[in-house]
Formats: sequence, C-alpha cells, structure tokens
Amino acid sequence: MASSKPSIAIVGGGISGVVLTIALIRRGIDVQLYEQAHAFGEIGAGVAFGPNSVRAMGACSPDITEAFNKVATHNQSPDKKYVWFDFQDGFDKNAPVGKEKLLFSLTNDYGANAVHRAHFLDELIKLVPDGITHFNKHLDTLEQPDGDGKVKLKFHDGTEAEADAVIGCDGIKSRTRAWMLGEDHPGAAPVYSFKYAYRGLIPMQRAVDALGEDNAGNSKMHLGQDGHVLTFPVDGGNTMNVVAFHTTREQWPDVKHLTMPSKKEHVYEDFKDFGPTVQKIIDMLEPNLDCWAIFDTAEHPMPAYNKGRVCCLGDAAHATTPHHGAGAGICIEDAAVMAELLADPAVAAAGHKGFRAAFQAFSDCRKERTQWLVQSSRKDGDVYEWRAEGVGRDVDKIYAECKASNDEIWNGQIDEMIADGRQSLVTLLHA
Ligand SMILES: Cc1cc2nc3c(=O)[nH]c(=O)nc-3n(C[C@H](O)[C@H](O)[C@H](O)COP(=O)(O)OP(=O)(O)OC[C@H]3O[C@@H](n4cnc5c(N)ncnc54)[C@H](O)[C@@H]3O)c2cc1C
Repeated sequence: MASSKPSIAIVGGGISGVVLTIALIRRGIDVQLYEQAHAFGEIGAGVAFGPNSVRAMGACSPDITEAFNKVATHNQSPDKKYVWFDFQDGFDKNAPVGKEKLLFSLTNDYGANAVHRAHFLDELIKLVPDGITHFNKHLDTLEQPDGDGKVKLKFHDGTEAEADAVIGCDGIKSRTRAWMLGEDHPGAAPVYSFKYAYRGLIPMQRAVDALGEDNAGNSKMHLGQDGHVLTFPVDGGNTMNVVAFHTTREQWPDVKHLTMPSKKEHVYEDFKDFGPTVQKIIDMLEPNLDCWAIFDTAEHPMPAYNKGRVCCLGDAAHATTPHHGAGAGICIEDAAVMAELLADPAVAAAGHKGFRAAFQAFSDCRKERTQWLVQSSRKDGDVYEWRAEGVGRDVDKIYAECKASNDEIWNGQIDEMIADGRQSLVTLLHA
C-alpha cells in the first residue's frame, strides 16, 4: 500500500454522501466526493427527522446538528410541540373542512422536525471545504484489483480516479450496487411499490385561510382507503408541505424516470372518495405538478453492503419507501457508524485489510435495522391506507402498528450502533 495517507472516494453528493464527507473530514480522513450533477441539489421539498436521526447527526459532527437546527421547522402550535403527526380520518365526507376526526397522535422528543431539503443541503455544503467535490462525474463502473492496488472509478466522461476504498452513496438507482451485485441481479435495480405521490408546497397564509391554523401549521396525516395525504410545515413555518400518496395496480411506465409530469385533474380523480379537507388541500396544488413513483429495495435486499474495499451506504444500500419518514435519518445513522469505523486507528494501521474489515463490520451491523426499515415502511404505507392484512380500518390496530414501528426507529441509539460495529471490527481485524 502507498505510504501516503489512505484515500476514500465517495460517489454521490446527496444527504448520505455529503454528511459522510463532513463526518470523515472531521476525523482527519482523506476523502474525495464525486457527484454526477453539475452542482449540489436536492429535489423534492420537506424531509423530517426523528430523535434517532438527530442523535446520529451529532455523532457525525456537531456542525451538522447546528446546520440542521438553523433550518429545522416544528409544529406551529405550542401544544403540538411533541406531536410527530396527528392521524386523522381523511375519508369522512361529512366532516367539514378542518374538522376531520382526530384518530390518534404519535409523539416523540422532537415532534415534527422537518427541513426544506434544499435549505438543509445548502447549510451542509458550507461544511465541505473547496477542492473535495468533483461535479459532472457520473460513475459508470469500478475496477477492484485482487491484490493491494487502488480501486479505480471510471466516469461517463471518460475520466478515471483512484482511491484505496470507495463508498457508493449514489442513491436508489446506485451504479455501485449494480456493480457489486452484477447488472443482471434482481437487486441491482429498485422495484416499484405500486404507490406514487404528488407533492406540493403551499404558502402558509393561504393554507391557514383554507384549512385553519391547526390543520395548516401542524403535521397531519389524512388517512383513507388506498391513499393518504400528509402535510407539515417547513421553511420556518412559511410553507405547508404536501405529499399525497395513492396505491395503484398499474405498473410504472418508465423505470428510468421515477418522476413524471402530471395534472391536478389526476389528483382529484385519485382522491375523489376523500373528504372536504383533502379536497381543499388539492385545490391549493399547482395545476401542473410532478408525480413521484415510490420504488424501494424491499423485494431483493442486498445480501451484503460490502465487496472488498467497495461499500454501499444510504439509499444505495437500502432504499426505502418514505412512509416512516425515516429514510434520510437512517442514512445519517449509516454515516455516523461508517465514519467511526474508518476513524479507528487499527483500520489505517491494517492497510487495505483494514478497509475490508471496516466495510464488512459496517455491513454486518447495519443490515438488520436498515432492511427491517424497508419492510416496515412498506407495511405502514398500507396500514395508513387501510390495506394491511389483519389491521384494516381498525383504529386501535392502526395505532398499535404505527406506535410500535416508530418507537423502534426513534429509540435507535447511535452509540450502541457504533459499539456494535466496533466489536465486529475488532473480531474481523483479529481473524
Ligand atoms: C416522497 C419522499 C419523501 C421522503 N420523506 C422523507 C422524510 O420525511 N424523512 C426521511 O428521513 N427520509 C425521507 N425520504 C427518504 C430520503 O429522501 C432518502 O432516504 C434520502 O434522500 C437518500 O439520500 P441518499 O444521499 O442516500 O440518496 P440520494 O438523495 O438519491 O442522493 C444520491 C446522489 O448521488 C448522485 N448520483 C447518483 N448516481 C450517481 C452516479 N452514477 N455517479 C455519481 N453520482 C451519482 C445523485 O445525483 C445524488 O446527488 C423521502 C423520500 C421520498 C421519495
């Protein structure tokens, strides 16, 4: 192995890649970040973070917690401070606008804790020094020598880069995952969950005028048959974020494109059986809007996240449907565990064997929780839409299911996850 400091290449500058880069820089690790786009950018609007994610941010770097706190938005009513979501009956046609029946609320230490994606990313990238990020670098493939040579990254523009180890943070359509599993492996590509979502951002004053202060300014989940609509405040309470999910029997027409232009007429059609509050929310959406296909890796989970000195992390390893609002949070847990493993002096001391052991330890300790999340999120997506077997429209059962799964997520303790990883690393390094 070369005598210079070992180098890590990260592929993909979404939340996973950027947070991991910051965490590695903080630990003095030599890292380069390769992003296919010409600049950093997040598509979509709001993203919420539970207590487990906030703890993981702090473990990555206190600077990340600070960046998050600058842009985090909470429920607007003081008495809803700890409410993650109010779950309401969105299907009751007789309930006037803003007067849906409250079925139950789920609470945690932070309540609704959401950011506008672009605003959070803007704060994060301030923490990445110049010279680390390389834009317009779409990874095509990798070459990993059998021996101790560097791993080669080959980009679409014909250029190449080298590193001692590579971490693919390249999202749901990960090239790194496809390279690791083989292009023809069923897990190489994500799978349609037969749900799609419309998303919108409504100026808060308009939402308050239409729905009332409680429904506009606090996080709400409007449940119904074969669909659910969630709204929560972002942007310091100036904007109401809307995501309207619908279940379909039809295949998504083009797996290469996970979003498709749509029209408000389609939203009315999909939610025609919902009550007046949901109809009012749809009224406020733009006439032309995007429809997002919800894909995940539930059907063909990766058998391992590592292959030698190459590893997948975040959505690249375990893309989940968004029904727990926990996908990005679990990516941050991944980043904290990975950063701590790579910072272990025994890893650098062991050369390439150290990277192989760190990636194996990462895979061993992250697989169970992350793959459980993917399955549980699919299930709860159906629970919200009264489609889950044995649960149906029974509110007590819906509550029990949602409470148990969310507690499992929110109670996740990053210190314990890191300790598990370290234990596994020690065993592997001494094997
Ligand atoms: C509708 C919806 C709502 C959601 N809501 C929440 C929520 O409330 N809370 C939550 O925690 N999670 C939520 N999630 C999940 C969350 O958005 C994802 O888990 C998270 O953004 C994944 O981050 P990532 O960095 O792993 O992947 P991505 O965000 O997909 O980033 C991947 C990056 O890699 C780059 N890239 C891709 N391929 C290549 C390549 N070949 N070469 C170089 N670069 C490449 C991309 O350009 C991109 O910048 C939601 C998801 C959806 C779809």
